[in-house]
Amino acid sequence: MDRRKPLQEWSVETDIVVVGAGACGTAAALAAADRGLNILLLEKTRRVEGNTALSQGMVPAAGTRFQQQAGVKDTPEAMAEDIFRQNSYESDPELSLFLCRESKALVEWLVDRVGVDLRLITDFNYTGFSQFRIHAPPTRTGRELLAQMQAATSQRSNIQLVTECPVRFLLTDEAGNISGVVAGVTSEERVKCRKVILACNGFGANREMLERYCPEIAHALYFNHPGNTGEGILWGMELGAAVEHMDAYQAHASIAASQGLLVTWAVILNGGIQVNKEGKRFGNETRKSYSEYAQRVLRQSEGIAYDIFEEKTYQAVLAGFEEFRQLVETGAVKRADSIKGLAQVLGLDASNLKSTTKAYNAARLAGMDEFERTTFGNELRPPLYGVQVTAALLHTQGGLKINTRAQVLRPDGSVLPNLYAGGGVAVGISGSGADGYLAGNGLLAALGWGKVAGEDAANSILSSS
Ligand SMILES: Cc1cc2nc3c(=O)[nH]c(=O)nc-3n(C[C@H](O)[C@H](O)[C@H](O)COP(=O)(O)OP(=O)(O)OC[C@H]3O[C@@H](n4cnc5c(N)ncnc54)[C@H](O)[C@@H]3O)c2cc1C
Repeated sequence: MDRRKPLQEWSVETDIVVVGAGACGTAAALAAADRGLNILLLEKTRRVEGNTALSQGMVPAAGTRFQQQAGVKDTPEAMAEDIFRQNSYESDPELSLFLCRESKALVEWLVDRVGVDLRLITDFNYTGFSQFRIHAPPTRTGRELLAQMQAATSQRSNIQLVTECPVRFLLTDEAGNISGVVAGVTSEERVKCRKVILACNGFGANREMLERYCPEIAHALYFNHPGNTGEGILWGMELGAAVEHMDAYQAHASIAASQGLLVTWAVILNGGIQVNKEGKRFGNETRKSYSEYAQRVLRQSEGIAYDIFEEKTYQAVLAGFEEFRQLVETGAVKRADSIKGLAQVLGLDASNLKSTTKAYNAARLAGMDEFERTTFGNELRPPLYGVQVTAALLHTQGGLKINTRAQVLRPDGSVLPNLYAGGGVAVGISGSGADGYLAGNGLLAALGWGKVAGEDAANSILSSS
């Protein structure tokens, strides 16, 4: 198809096209709509879900009024330092610090302007966090977060959401500047616009790209949204954009695969352990993150592990996590009044499981175990709970290089005119591989760059008209 048809053949005209209606796209549309521009929000799938709806909706931010109310003293610099420490100082320092500085305004904007109910979580903290700074909806689900953002978009008459309308490629004018998109399944609508914001996530659902860029996780379970097939990154590359950290991804070491539910890592952080099929532990579960630990799980027999935890942890997680309540309802979480009973019901070697819990409890008193774990939580004693899990790829973290205005950049640092990217399309703040992902990096980059891109695209249109 000729990508430079004359103007009279446009089917629709708008100010800004946003590609993808997850956290990034919805934030971008809302931010731009607040400045009075017309937005066409195009979503490939029938339902508005994306990776965002599958997530736990946890958004990190430093210096918010919710932290202040809870007596938490935090700064964007401390937040950035946690991110850098996790990714071994590999992520772009300017972009990472910028997002941290924007995070307070982002969370307060989501609450005050968009109408999302976000609350500071203080009942547990992820490894690598120097402060309580995760803000999440009451159910701790991305579904609730996105539903509230969607409710806000439906109240803005200048945002038009069209579902089942994949963008198929970008259009450029004679000078090579982005001038529109082609979208649709059966018919091909040529949409003219002044700015395009790519918010269509990474390539978690594209096996070919995974094999090329992230081979170590390409064949693991993909626990994510099928819409994320990487075209946003490919379009950018075709236009000459730079990409960075294409081998980066977020994995998770605790997925109840048969039930299709994530078992929150809070079960481990509250004092739980993971054992393999022999009933033995295989590492320090709290060394870095559930993302880093995923490869260890995959190295166990059949890639299977079991989360083992005690009553107080069970009750705390049950009270805090909607998804865990759903998991309990499926019957996947087994309970027993003895270690032998739990081993039986999970099909593990009872004597190994007994030695494992005994060694763990002794190490807990000593302050360090054989794997150098130093954070232990509650003593592991019956009644005990267990659930079979595996590790999975959640989403990719590499992508198009952007600047602090979320504009897409060429390798020489120049801007690709009229093109923005955020969330999984843009390079993340996790460095390379799986180890650098700190909990919350995904939504921070999706919501943060979405808001920045929407504001900047709108401001630049307004200032040029
Ligand atoms: C189980 C799980 C738990 C997670 N928990 C957290 C958490 O608590 N905190 C956190 O920070 N991160 C978490 N993450 C990561 C987080 O979900 C993602 O980083 C974030 O949702 C990405 O948002 P996005 O807007 O970039 O992409 P998405 O939400 O995936 O939205 C992209 C949308 O673009 C659409 N699309 C794709 N191609 C096209 C096209 N050609 N045309 C039109 N539309 C298109 C897709 O269908 C999709 O709806 C989690 C991920 C998973 C899987």
